[in-house]
Amino acid sequence: MTPLIGETEDERVDLKSKIRNLKSKMKPLRVDIITIFPDYFRAVFDYGIIRRARAAGLVTIEAHDLRAWTSDKHHVVDDRPFGGGDGMVMKPEPIFAAVKSLTGANRRETVPPGTRVVLLSPQGQTLTQASAAEFAKCEHVILICGRYEGVDERVADAVVTDEISIGDYVLSGGEPAALVVIDATLRLLPGALGSETSAVTESFSDGMLDYPHYTRPPEFEGMRVPEVLLTGNHAEIARWRREAALEKTKRNRPDLLK
Ligand code: SAM
Repeated sequence: MTPLIGETEDERVDLKSKIRNLKSKMKPLRVDIITIFPDYFRAVFDYGIIRRARAAGLVTIEAHDLRAWTSDKHHVVDDRPFGGGDGMVMKPEPIFAAVKSLTGANRRETVPPGTRVVLLSPQGQTLTQASAAEFAKCEHVILICGRYEGVDERVADAVVTDEISIGDYVLSGGEPAALVVIDATLRLLPGALGSETSAVTESFSDGMLDYPHYTRPPEFEGMRVPEVLLTGNHAEIARWRREAALEKTKRNRPDLLK
């Protein structure tokens, strides 16, 4: 692929050393997950880019059992809803205690700068590439995973800095949503991706979808790769990719172009 930044070998070496420099000055991002199922996360951070980011010291991730912040003998984290209705609601006390012990704050106003307290919720603002990029700039991100009918609203009202949904559908718990937020965020940490420039060419980074990708063989079951990609003409390839990205965006996500 044509490098967008660092056209020559010298420029690329220079860019890599700048990125190394930047990484050495950066504090690792700290991610704390508050959940009633900490084991859910046991293996998922041991693969791919997340594993590499952890190994490179770019991030530390810890899943905490919410029940550790209960004070009753049965470690109860939920209760019946006031006003009646189905299901159970997650109690506020253990969540406030968890946030207090992880950040020192039990109100939004006193959450330290560079820290985000995120509640995963279908009622939140939809996660975007831009919000993931904001989380990637933080020092500390706390992710609160709801279960049952959701979390007592006083948590969202008083201590949460961001209420985030991963889409217009209802999951049974915030854990898969937390994973999505972590994955989208970590790949934007400088140095997390194999190719230091690849995040800037991906879908949504410039308000469009990515261009289509092809690899060998050049012909498969009668379907040929677009000829221009085989020419080695980088200017033509770049033009084709811009047009193909626009075409695909118009077809699949016209809302991005409005
Ligand atoms: N009663 C809630 C409602 O209708 O809005 C749904 C609660 S859901 C069954 C339980 C938990 O799953 C939520 O508290 C939240 O943490 C998580 N969750 C469900 N859908 C989600 C989504 N689209 N994005 C983020 N978190 C979600």
